[in-house]
Amino acid sequence: MNVPSPINPPLRMLLGPGPSDVHPRVRAALALPTVGHLDPYYLRIMNELQQMLRQVFRTENSMTLAISGTGSAGMEATVVNLIEPGDAMLVCVNGVFGGRMADVAVRCGANVTRVERPWGEVFTTDDIKQALAKSKPKVVGIVMAETSTGAWQPIEEISRIVHEAGALLLVDAVTALGGVPVEVDAWQIDAIYSGTQKCLGCPPGLAPVSFSSQAMEAIGRRRTKVQSWYLDVSLLASYWGQERVYHHTAPINMTYALHEALRLVLEEGLDACFARHHRNHLALKAGLAAIGIDFAAQEGHQLPMLNAVTIPPGVDDKAVRKSLLERFGIEIGGGLGAYSGKVWRIGLMGHSSREANVLAVVAAIEQLLGEAGGTAATGVGVASVCQSLSSQIA
Ligand SMILES: *Cc1c(COP(=O)(O)O)cnc(C)c1O
Repeated sequence: MNVPSPINPPLRMLLGPGPSDVHPRVRAALALPTVGHLDPYYLRIMNELQQMLRQVFRTENSMTLAISGTGSAGMEATVVNLIEPGDAMLVCVNGVFGGRMADVAVRCGANVTRVERPWGEVFTTDDIKQALAKSKPKVVGIVMAETSTGAWQPIEEISRIVHEAGALLLVDAVTALGGVPVEVDAWQIDAIYSGTQKCLGCPPGLAPVSFSSQAMEAIGRRRTKVQSWYLDVSLLASYWGQERVYHHTAPINMTYALHEALRLVLEEGLDACFARHHRNHLALKAGLAAIGIDFAAQEGHQLPMLNAVTIPPGVDDKAVRKSLLERFGIEIGGGLGAYSGKVWRIGLMGHSSREANVLAVVAAIEQLLGEAGGTAATGVGVASVCQSLSSQIA
């Protein structure tokens, strides 16, 4: 009998679009003893987790919980609960994830209108006003941090317009949460979902979600059952609320991991955490600019945790990413869809957003581009990273 050897994964520096590096304390939490999903100890952990999720989402929403599944399960959960077959939904598409939301909405039976923007750009309030005048949707869906393009979508003003039109606002915050401010109550977001493996520094496996009371009232007015049994929030509410009715077996150890990851974010403080993401983004940007690499997303709307940069002409995309991984142990992301072969996506998310990582990735790219061009690396990229970091301290 041939039994495979034990798993012994290589140590990587995860600087792609997710997963990001997992903090050692989070890894340790995963390995703690499993208890039952109705064990009083576990129920206490769930309550604490919920309370921490509310703090990170900046909301008082009672319906705040973690869906068993990755970020896409959060997307399905929010859409399938808000949409009954035949309902109108407006989806803003300026990259892969807006496109995925539109696909999910169609599968849920929504009558979907797409409003589009070129990749790398964000939506303006006028774009949304015009689309709302034409389509009268029940729900408007928009991606706050479009991981495929690096574009950072402002939400607050759009929320006002969506509510004036009598619609509910659904926000994808999979990459945003933990990296940039997300204000669920102040911005009146009705439904929001995230994932654990982007800026929360956890392995993939849970999807934090939150629903406003307006969203819960809309769900309460449904004429038909939620199309998905597994993702029905009213059933999940009976487990996460006081009744503690068994629904499905919770991923106990992932809950431990997310609990520890949220503790890390709150210990650091949300504002300090956002400032760290911003500082390392500026340092990366300075280092890459010095070696002739520009950003792909619209100026003024570039995400700090997902840096989409244009691959210099003549550079072999796949060869560089292969060498980064094999020689330096660094993973970065390639481009998706319209950006395939044209863009690298360098993630500085959660525990991956560290000064040492910025220095390493800029130095490694500088080295590889030098070798490809038959010249010695000069170190100007690394020097610019150092200058940026120093100037931000001063
Ligand atoms: C990663 C991501 C998703 C999908 O999350 P998975 O965990 O891969 O299912 C959805 N939206 C955005 C913006 C993402 O970055």
